[in-house]
Amino acid sequence: MPGNVNTTLETGELACAITAGDLPGKVMITTRRAGDLRPGIRGTAARRASVVPGGAWRWTRQVHGAVVVTAEHAGDAGDGLIGRAAGARPAMFAADCALLGILSPQGIVGVAHAGWHGLCAGVIEETARAMRSFGATTLSAVRGPCIGPECYEFSPDDLDSVAREYGPAVRGETSVGRPALDLAAGVRAACDRAEIELVHEVCSCTACARTASGEPTWFSHRARRDPGRHGLVIVERQ
Ligand SMILES: [Zn+2]
Repeated sequence: MPGNVNTTLETGELACAITAGDLPGKVMITTRRAGDLRPGIRGTAARRASVVPGGAWRWTRQVHGAVVVTAEHAGDAGDGLIGRAAGARPAMFAADCALLGILSPQGIVGVAHAGWHGLCAGVIEETARAMRSFGATTLSAVRGPCIGPECYEFSPDDLDSVAREYGPAVRGETSVGRPALDLAAGVRAACDRAEIELVHEVCSCTACARTASGEPTWFSHRARRDPGRHGLVIVERQ
């Protein structure tokens, strides 16, 4: 789908910030340098506040499914979370899974956490449906970093099942020629199906991307068994 929405990207050491046209809400994605921002870990509230000043974030208990909850029910199990661009601050956390921040002209915003289980369960489509049920019309999404096919060897059987759902583009190859899942391609297919315009993708692999000084840019469970998580949060736009 050709892009109708211009995006702006500010890249910082601790986070990048993406805005789309004049849509309400700004998508912020934290880096590994910002530290582990998972909820429930000592010191993470202060870290979140130092990286993204302002109000507290809201999140869900992520379970790799397709349940979508509203900001009033933050804390419940779910992999989609929707709220208002003004103040809800919905967030998701990951180390390899794809995170999506979705904006709408009506100020209804949503975040989704899509590893391959959540993707196949339909979390992206369900998040879009929930946003529209609250009045959102056109949906514009930003995808955060996720593991790339070159680092994501996948069993042929599982790859077949994802390809049945989202098409042959999800079939990738690792750097040594093994079957791999192209998770980003799956996210693109789910966005097409849900009529979400993907206006920006952070095309950087959580497993192998490095900063200029040679340290990993993101957290990766698969590559390093990192316990930490980076975050994607939608905040107010100044
Ligand atoms: Zn990689």
